[in-house]
Order: sequence, then structure tokens, then C-alpha cells
Amino acid sequence: MADRDGLIWFDGEMVPWREAKVHVLTHTLHYGMGVFEGVRAYESELGTAIFRLEEHTQRLINSAKIMQMPLNYTAEELNEAQRAAVRENGLRSAYIRPMVFYGSEGMGLRADNLKAHVIVAAWEWGAYMGEENLKRGIKVATSSFTRHHVNITMTRAKANGNYINSMLALQEAISHGADEALLLDPEGYVAEGSGENFFMIKDGVIYTPELTSCLDGITRKTVMQLAREMGYEIVEKRITRDEVYIADEAFFTGTAAEVTPIRELDGRVIGAGSRGPITEKLQQRYFDVVHGRAPEHRRWLTPVED
Ligand code: PMP
Repeated sequence: MADRDGLIWFDGEMVPWREAKVHVLTHTLHYGMGVFEGVRAYESELGTAIFRLEEHTQRLINSAKIMQMPLNYTAEELNEAQRAAVRENGLRSAYIRPMVFYGSEGMGLRADNLKAHVIVAAWEWGAYMGEENLKRGIKVATSSFTRHHVNITMTRAKANGNYINSMLALQEAISHGADEALLLDPEGYVAEGSGENFFMIKDGVIYTPELTSCLDGITRKTVMQLAREMGYEIVEKRITRDEVYIADEAFFTGTAAEVTPIRELDGRVIGAGSRGPITEKLQQRYFDVVHGRAPEHRRWLTPVED
């Protein structure tokens, strides 16, 4: 990743990709206190456009507030930085990674002279779990690692350190032959994937866990709105793993994962064992919206060109 052409927005300036470096005593590298976002830009009828930019920027600002990190940029400046990162790298579609992190101004948990730095990188990134899996669906394994308790870390923040838990779960799932992990909350109910929100469908009703220990996903919110507009009932409730085993359909949502069908959980085939019909409709609608093919949702797209 480090050795490539391009530009990264770094504390207000565009820096050549290979020179966008930090010191080994970077505070966030040691203790994990940092916040970030994952955002996508798509080719659309408006040109290359960022999907729900304002919402991602607001979540970044909220994450920094929760973690008491002093963020010295306004929402407008952060929006512009993300547009510039896509535009100035000449990307037609992109994954955008803004991050707020503490520098090497001090070491130790008590360091009080830390500065919050901001980077925004953007690069081309296709389907997170492969194009094929968007059609076929993925194999998921319930994780032996529990999702965060709400008072062990801050689950409303998209914080760097939170992802140790995600990586442990994902590594375990992959080593057991699955594509993704399903994490349960501290009480044993379904929470989310390592980087996705979870949905299941039973008898035509769409269910998703309440926002307790899972991230308030922007794709989750989008899919819930689109599903309601399409006339589906959505229920937010506690879900048990055995309810998922006997669901008709299940899928994950996320900026990276988009709408990824789940075909199997813990060796139990979900529904017909492939992308279910409602999942397919929602996925299709999601792709229409992000690509600007739904005029009523064009306000969710911010073109990167002026
Ligand atoms: N949960 C976790 C743990 C995530 O990392 C992500 C990805 N940001 C999501 C859910 C989905 O969030 P979004 O739809 O906003 O990308």
C-alpha cells in the first residue's frame, strides 16, 4: 500500500503517497486511540460522486467527540478533503479512508501534549468480498469472540482500537473456512459482522439487531430506508443465532461490503443457500441508488468535481 503513486491529504495538504509517513512513536500506533471512516465514491450519472459524504463526516466528528480527540477541521473542510482525495488521484470510483490519530508528540497514556492529525487516503477497491460473493453469498461462522460491551469501549465510535476485536473474529472465521464472522453481543444475541451490520428475513419481514453493541452503519440506515420505501416491514429486535439458522434469507451491509448475501451460518444453509429474492431486490436498489440511477436519492451523492 505504501509504495505507489498518488496523493494523500495530510493535515490540510496534499502529500505524495510515498511521503505520507509518521514516526514509530506515533501514539495511536501504540494504544489504538484513533477514529476513522470508510467511505465510497461511485461512478454515477453525476460523474464520480461520494455516497452519503455528510453522514460519514458527521460520524467521524462524533467518533472524535466520543473519544475526546480535538479535531481541528470543520465538517466542510473534511468533506472537501475527501472530494479532493478522489479527484486529485484521478479515481473514477474509490474507497476513501479518513482517519484522525494522535502523533508522536508524547508517549504514555498520560501524554497531554498530543495533537490530533488527520489523513484522507483514497484508492480503487472493488467488491470487498469478491464480485462472485455478491451473487452467491458468503459462508459465515459465529465467532467465539464476543462483540464489545458498551462500557468496555465506545461502540458508537468507529475507533481504531475497536478493530482488534473485529480482526480476532475475522481471522478465526477465515481459519475455520468461513468468509466472515458473526459476532454476538455480551448477552449472546446477534450483534454484527467484523465490519458489517446484519439483517435477516423471515416470512417477508426484515429483522436487524438494535443498535446497542454494533456500529450505527450508514449502509444499514440506507437499506432500512430503501426497504421501507419498497413496502417491506423492518423490525429492530434482539436476534438469536438459531433464529438465523432458520431464516429465509440473511445479508450483511457495509460501505465496503455493500449488500452481501449470507448463504450459510455455522454449516446451516440459509434459505435456498444462495442470494435470496428480497436480498437481491434490496441489493439491486442499493446499487441503483449509489450509482445515481434513482433520482429521488441523488441528494445522497456528492460529486467530486466542482
Ligand atoms: N459494523 C462495523 C464494525 C463496521 O466496521 C462497519 C463498516 N464501517 C459497519 C458495521 C457498517 O457501517 P457502514 O455501513 O457505515 O459502512
